[in-house]
Amino acid sequence: MDPQNNSTNKHVIIIGGGISGLLTGYWLDQNNIPVTILEQSNVPGGTMKTLIDDGWLVEQGPNSALETTPLISEVLNGLGIESKRIYADEKSSNRYIVRDNTLHKVPMDPLSFIRTKLWSTYGKIRLIKEPFIGRATEEETIAQFVSRRLGKEFLDYAINPFVAGVYAGNPESLSVRYAFPKLYALEEKYGGLIKGMIRSRKERKARKEIAKDRAKLFSFVDGMQTLPNSISQKLGSAVILGATVKSVIPFRTEGKTFYTVSYFKNDETIKLESPVVVFSSPAEATASIIEPIDPEFSKTLKEIYYPPVTELFLGFRSDQVKIPLTGFGFLVPEVEKKNILGTIWSSSLFTNRSPKHHVALTTFVGGARQPDICRLNDEALINRALIDLHLLMKIEGDPVYKKIIRWDRAIPQYNIGFGNVLEKIKRFEDNFRGTFIVSNFKGGIAVGDCFINANAAAKKIADYFILGK
Ligand SMILES: Cc1cc2nc3c(=O)[nH]c(=O)nc-3n(C[C@H](O)[C@H](O)[C@H](O)COP(=O)(O)OP(=O)(O)OC[C@H]3O[C@@H](n4cnc5c(N)ncnc54)[C@H](O)[C@@H]3O)c2cc1C
Repeated sequence: MDPQNNSTNKHVIIIGGGISGLLTGYWLDQNNIPVTILEQSNVPGGTMKTLIDDGWLVEQGPNSALETTPLISEVLNGLGIESKRIYADEKSSNRYIVRDNTLHKVPMDPLSFIRTKLWSTYGKIRLIKEPFIGRATEEETIAQFVSRRLGKEFLDYAINPFVAGVYAGNPESLSVRYAFPKLYALEEKYGGLIKGMIRSRKERKARKEIAKDRAKLFSFVDGMQTLPNSISQKLGSAVILGATVKSVIPFRTEGKTFYTVSYFKNDETIKLESPVVVFSSPAEATASIIEPIDPEFSKTLKEIYYPPVTELFLGFRSDQVKIPLTGFGFLVPEVEKKNILGTIWSSSLFTNRSPKHHVALTTFVGGARQPDICRLNDEALINRALIDLHLLMKIEGDPVYKKIIRWDRAIPQYNIGFGNVLEKIKRFEDNFRGTFIVSNFKGGIAVGDCFINANAAAKKIADYFILGK
């Protein structure tokens, strides 16, 4: 029996039915490779979850995604849900950053850059030095990288809030190389950000990739969960919900490696066997599953920091908000010492997010900046957030609708030294042939990155069956 070449043994077990696991399953299925996806929860999608309640559409995880790769349209086409995709309002390119209790529009052209009060004249002039600054000599945090190349003011009033918006992270801990690989590559490859941006644009075009600042923001009429639901429906009985994987144990037969995957469902332990296992569960869950077979790797996975994030979805009557909500929303720099990380103006981004004459705002608190704030109870959290929202958005009164979503472990942080984690992932995959790690703690956290990584993994798995490598 040859598991890599015998078609009866062509079967893949995927642990985790978040978007990474589902997309890997989708592409394997398209390639006629049978899959079984074991998902702990009773709904597919992992963090990609939408609640529709009384006219409000509450995104509990990602509010939208950037269309950074043509793979997104390919999948939506294949699922027949292209018509359900909606693009964000054109004005969503207006983004704001708080300085001195005021929302400042992030400048998008040279004239508004000169005029903006978001950065001082000194801060702007400091940028002239950027092309003349050399490469780093050792691994840097994003804070070190930006202070060195662009100056402290850009760190405080551009990158710090941006990092909070993307990773809910701390710029003093995140590795520029692993958390912002494209930014890092501009220095590594071209010697500077400004030079690099001009030259890399051409190369990206050749690869048919779309830069994050030019990619269109999308969601679906009924919210982001449309995507995992549709993949799950397409895969049908291949997706087993309410199935918690407990262990993955290798065994050898006729010179080939197979795995026994044990999972728990409806008070029963069930065992499946397969030559290929994909781990698409978060780092902590993967760590427990593989602990008996690789305790050292398990320890590494447990150390990946996922800060808590709490999302406050608040609805107001339109007349309670005294500023125009034309844009994506705003981010708060740490130096402004506020309670919140930022707010997405959800009902301005997409239609269908709030009842008529109302607005929906999604405010994030906590993250690596203020993890302890997430321990507050719902009422205290809302009160703290309202202090900032009243001041910054001139909102009057209390919300007419509220939903609190707590993520105790929200987003993996690619902190300094993350290269060591990636090496250990590779070593694990090499030692346990037929295992693949496809999750947002490897290769990027954005939804678009999950598409790219799942597609690449499915190709690797197909090759593994054909070539045994
Ligand atoms: C609050 C929040 C907001 C975000 N906003 C955005 C955004 O606006 N845009 C964007 O691009 N990205 C955003 N992201 C990031 C993006 O949503 C995630 O990186 C992505 O959805 C992760 O998908 P995943 O499949 O890798 O992991 P997950 O979604 O975590 O899926 C892992 C799955 O594994 C399952 N599982 C765990 N243990 C087991 C087990 N033992 N057995 C079986 N199954 C198991 C879980 O139930 C889960 O379904 C956000 C993330 C969060 C938390």
